[in-house]
Amino acid sequence: MGSEKKAAPKALVAGNWKMNGLKTSGAELAALAGQLKDMADLPCDVLICPPATLLAHFSEAALGSPIQTGAQDCHPEDSGAHTGDISAEMIKDAGAEYVIVGHSERRTDHGETDAVVKAKAEAARRARLTAIICIGETEAERDAGKTLEILTGQLEGSLPEGAKAANTVIAYEPVWAIGTGRTPTTEQVAEVHAHIRARLEKALGAEEGAKVRILYGGSVKPANAAELMAVPHVNGALVGGASLKAADFFGIISAYL
Ligand code: PEP
Repeated sequence: MGSEKKAAPKALVAGNWKMNGLKTSGAELAALAGQLKDMADLPCDVLICPPATLLAHFSEAALGSPIQTGAQDCHPEDSGAHTGDISAEMIKDAGAEYVIVGHSERRTDHGETDAVVKAKAEAARRARLTAIICIGETEAERDAGKTLEILTGQLEGSLPEGAKAANTVIAYEPVWAIGTGRTPTTEQVAEVHAHIRARLEKALGAEEGAKVRILYGGSVKPANAAELMAVPHVNGALVGGASLKAADFFGIISAYL
């Protein structure tokens, strides 16, 4: 891939706390901020996506630190009769900069289609948030040799018009690697990330497509982060379980230090 010769985009290490965390979990945020405190010019961006209940609190607590905040989902509309949902505008108002859309748990638990994910990514852009669009194959799809085909369909179906590197991040998360302790081989990750890069360059143009960050997610831990983050076209990580404890998350960030 020619684009790997261009400067790689600045990496992003993002933590997805899922449905975990109470007010007392602010101690982990504070501990992480403390570890990053004296590091000028961090070579990667650092993001925590806590549950919605903690978003405003974490956004305020993270001010003055290099840690940015994001939500885990948003509704496509800006307001209205959608009990229990939150809009991209509300997320921005809470002080966040990012929103995860199309996580496999939402695709599975809430039946979210690519069209729904695309509408959510469009809402993120409308609210001046960066959308982290998640795509990934199931184990059955990988076993059937359909990985690249599935990912192409998800990417093309979820990527909104006007997507740019400044408002879009792609997270490749094999469903079978999430929360299982299993990861693809570095060769498998390399194949998928090169494929996503090529599709992004086709969809957005070579220059813009080369700048979009492509994260790997699925059982990233301090012990395997350096190896995974060294794979071409891996521009950071989306981390679930290992983002809950500051020490583990810092261990993953350390792959870039
Ligand atoms: C995730 O859910 O986005 C994830 C990558 O989880 P874990 O790191 O726990 O596998």
